[in-house]
Amino acid sequence: MATVVNPNLMSDLQKFGAPDINACFSCGNCTAICPLADNDATFPRRFIRLAQVGLTDELVTSKELWTCYQCGMCTDRCPQEADPSEFMATARRYAIAKLDKTRIARAMYTSPVAAVIISLVGLAIFGGFFASVQAEEGARLVFGVPYEWIHTVGLVVMILVALIAVFNLAMMARATAKRDGVTAKSLFGSKAAWGRTFRALWYSIGVESLGQKRYREDCADDNPVEPLYRRRWLIHTLTLWGFLALFAATLIHYAGDIIGVPEAVAEAAITPVARTIGTLGGLAMMYGVSWFMINRYQKVSAAAQHSSPSDWLFLWMLWITGLTGFIIEVSLLFPGAQPQPWSYVLFLVHVAIAMELVLFMPFTKFAHVMYRPVALFFYGLAKDEHRELQPA
Ligand code: SF4
Ligand code: SF4
Repeated sequence: MATVVNPNLMSDLQKFGAPDINACFSCGNCTAICPLADNDATFPRRFIRLAQVGLTDELVTSKELWTCYQCGMCTDRCPQEADPSEFMATARRYAIAKLDKTRIARAMYTSPVAAVIISLVGLAIFGGFFASVQAEEGARLVFGVPYEWIHTVGLVVMILVALIAVFNLAMMARATAKRDGVTAKSLFGSKAAWGRTFRALWYSIGVESLGQKRYREDCADDNPVEPLYRRRWLIHTLTLWGFLALFAATLIHYAGDIIGVPEAVAEAAITPVARTIGTLGGLAMMYGVSWFMINRYQKVSAAAQHSSPSDWLFLWMLWITGLTGFIIEVSLLFPGAQPQPWSYVLFLVHVAIAMELVLFMPFTKFAHVMYRPVALFFYGLAKDEHRELQPA
């Protein structure tokens, strides 16, 4: 198949915040220092080369793009100040936008005004939807809009955004599989193939996504004088686990409602479990996100030098979700406390932002949560294959 060269790739990448990589003279220092680069993954230099020669498809379908943790070691070592770490981050933003055919991600990354408008519209829709769900029997208006309208619009938007996420993920997996020559037969065609598939799945989800093994072991020394509580891998892990715990608490809570658990049983058994998981998760997430924000504000390392408005928006939304959830939780701890009107408003803000965070996943920095495990799955497959080809 003919290779398509995009002469505008560099200028397009710059709209997403790419540093000037024309200074790069391919010395390879960045690849030599990168703790994640190996025979299969010669980054970040290869990605800079791909951008310089205009190979868009190669750039956005490379699984290695998503394995970079943006530790900044390559940038510290670059003699030309080409900032390869920031370039990798920009290439991921660009890939998120390229995979999203609605162009919402592109608008959010390249225009701060569009990012704010889209976020506010999303908040109004999701907030309105939850206000309509909470509306008392007989109430026909929410914020002056008929209950039925806002409920239907909210549902339709949620279903549409969920479908877009699934479609984008399928396109990314398809393109990467095609590039790597992975087929249904190579995944499930034999017992050995099933074994490889399961090992790659475990590597992707268990070892790397949840266990953060390479981040912990390989990038842990990005600044060895940093105390443990400020290490990036710990901050990242607490943020991820905290968010997952909050998500799990929400699912536990609603699962009780959906399967029709009697109210007394839910109050005695389900609610305390969900609240404990949610509170611990919220604290972990607030801790991680607060440090991310402080580090970015203080520009403490090469990795924290550049933040797009979309990155800040993402962090602020996570932080506000955590804070509002925590205030609601604390307000319920006081004996005899009755829900106040302000707590309903706070709850609405909390749920609307959390909903927007999850549903806007394909358009924001959060997209790495869905693309990274898929990329790591293909990375695990390639490594496994490589190992099997090694002489005993
Ligand atoms: S270290 Fe700098 S100049 Fe050398 S290959 Fe990497 S980005 Fe280019
Ligand atoms: S930021 Fe770190 S993980 Fe990413 S390419 Fe540079 S050295 Fe490698």
